[in-house]
Amino acid sequence: MSINNLNTAISYLKGVGPARADLLKSELGIRTFGDLLNFFPNRYIDRSQFMMISQLQQNSSEIQILGKITELRTVQQAKGSSRLVATFSDETGTMELVWFRGVKWIKEAIKINTPYVIFGKTNFFKGLFSMPHPEMELLADYNKSLRTAMQPVYPSTEKLVNKGVTNRVISKMMQSLFEELHGNFNETLSTDVIERLKLISKNEALLNIHFPRTQEMLTKAQHRLKFEEFFFIQLQLLRKKLIRKSKFKGYPFLKVGDYFNHFYKNNLPFELTNAQKRVLKEIRKDMGSNAQMNRLLQGDVGSGKTIVALLTILIALDNGFQAAFMAPTEILATQHYNALVNFLHGMNVNVKLLTGSTKTKDRKILHAQLESGELHILIGTHALIEDKVKFRNLGIAIIDEQHRFGVEQRAKLWKKNVLPPHILVMTATPIPRTLAMSLYGDLDISVIDELPPNRKEVVTAHRYDANRLSVFKFLKEEIAKGRQVYVVYPLINESEVMDYKDLMDGYESITREFPKPTYQISIVHGQMKAEDKAYEMQRFQKGETQIMVATTVIEVGVDIPNSSVMVIESAERFGLSQLHQLRGRVGRGAAQSYCILMSSFKLSDDAKVRLKTMVDTSDGFKIAEVDLKLRGPGNLMGTQQSGILNLKIADLVKDANLLKIARSMAMELLDKDPDLNAAENRFIRIAYMELSKNSTQWANIS
Ligand code: ADP
Ligand code: MG
Repeated sequence: MSINNLNTAISYLKGVGPARADLLKSELGIRTFGDLLNFFPNRYIDRSQFMMISQLQQNSSEIQILGKITELRTVQQAKGSSRLVATFSDETGTMELVWFRGVKWIKEAIKINTPYVIFGKTNFFKGLFSMPHPEMELLADYNKSLRTAMQPVYPSTEKLVNKGVTNRVISKMMQSLFEELHGNFNETLSTDVIERLKLISKNEALLNIHFPRTQEMLTKAQHRLKFEEFFFIQLQLLRKKLIRKSKFKGYPFLKVGDYFNHFYKNNLPFELTNAQKRVLKEIRKDMGSNAQMNRLLQGDVGSGKTIVALLTILIALDNGFQAAFMAPTEILATQHYNALVNFLHGMNVNVKLLTGSTKTKDRKILHAQLESGELHILIGTHALIEDKVKFRNLGIAIIDEQHRFGVEQRAKLWKKNVLPPHILVMTATPIPRTLAMSLYGDLDISVIDELPPNRKEVVTAHRYDANRLSVFKFLKEEIAKGRQVYVVYPLINESEVMDYKDLMDGYESITREFPKPTYQISIVHGQMKAEDKAYEMQRFQKGETQIMVATTVIEVGVDIPNSSVMVIESAERFGLSQLHQLRGRVGRGAAQSYCILMSSFKLSDDAKVRLKTMVDTSDGFKIAEVDLKLRGPGNLMGTQQSGILNLKIADLVKDANLLKIARSMAMELLDKDPDLNAAENRFIRIAYMELSKNSTQWANIS
């Protein structure tokens, strides 16, 4: 058959008229034969077994019974609606079938005293079993249909079911489709790939995914289709990277000059870790080529990304370019600014900070210096992408915590450039490798997987609210040693009022427990003005206050080495990555640090796993893996919008190994045949072109 048949509108399929076609389109996104063919069941049920009515048990799962309807009656309900009740019997007993919707239509369609196969879940009430909205089929039809023990169950919606497009109807459509197309489809992989991975053919895979012959064939079909799904996504991502590297020119930063060398010799306060050195080498190699760097730098909290950013910036300066450093919040931007000014002491580098609270007068100077090239490094928040901000020659843009900046926002940074600047995106949210492969598969990734030496692991404990007094006692001991303490409350947007109340109640009880003048307390929360927040942060930073009571506004990046205890209230309400981020606020100085997770006794299973994971490990990547398993890829931070995660059949968590295989096969293929021109890759090329043409989901993500 030819490609064209798969592009036929679904309304032309037997059993699908214009009305159903509209429904399929709006509910399931199915427009063509091909869409239907690639609409896969999400599970299968064993329909080789029949139950007798006398064998029925309460709480059984879906079951199948053979019997006859002996009587049909309509029962009036409240509000004028009615339900349809059928008496259904086999040789061993009697039960009821019940419909609440589509009563009229079903009543007309049902044949009395004719053998039916019914399928569904049963309820048990007052000694009688009943099955609401059973799937049913005349025995005669049942015996005729292309059917196997494993009955596919397709994803559905309430609207579809209400309009009579049940699972059985979809199965019927699938059957018509296979008849129409004679079960014959184009192969999409090369013989080489198929043989090496011992995959079954496309024809066998499609047939068995919809009409499995045996469990074994079903497994093989799933394997082949999952592989294929990953393979083509990876092919797309890797090709995008290839094209970007060959077509998108970047400024070649050929030399390492005075700025870098002077800094390295005189200002660098510590020896770089091996991971930092390795990453810096990767960055230098990128920036020294003629291509634009587009690199993601992953490194756990405290792994030392800032210094890597600074060294990268100095290379740009050495080559006569300016640098931009963007942070998601004013607090963080200010902190980066202070850190850089500090690192660069005694050097002739012009660094400025631009945030929402920068005064107009200062802005004017800054804009002028930026355009003249006098300003070397501009650090700031979103304010950096305002129209008035124009770099003379931006060579590198460093973006901290990437998930908060959109693609278009970033592009605004380099409006004046001839070529795009090199880009380094830094994130402290570790992303499991498999997820990174899909989300950022077209970027280059560097990982700092080593903490600076002499870091003591943060001791983490889980305590119940009932033990609060002993926790307070511990805090007092730490404060007596000159340490500082964070107490963090959750902030979850749905009930900001309640969260605010929790915070204020907590604040009050802490002020009672830790009275002035012995203790000084800062408070920072989302409803405060930026300048008030900054003021309180500064008091804490300078050591004027010992306790910082805060909502999660301090979550990312805040660096106050003297603080050694992080108390997280209602820890069960936080996600794992947030807990990990918060814990990263301590353990930055020389002292042993602690993280105390407070919770009530009532914990969900997931919450138990989260808290235990935090107590057991401090490895951000391990924590991210657990998070991925608990929440699924779609819910992880920053991944929501990515269409790449709308997988049809593969699962990023369960099929992680297959993803790795698919990626390496795709790499190998592109190494040998980057444009997919070879005769043996013809099928791959055709399938690839077809997919690229039809998909908008593979739009830019970097
Ligand atoms: P993050 O990756 O979380 O942004 P930072 O860059 O803030 O981490 O670094 C955390 C702390 O570790 C900073 O105080 C920094 O100066 C220090 N640091 C970074 N690299 C090293 C190193 N190689 N040796 C010792 N300390 C380091
Ligand atoms: Mg940082």
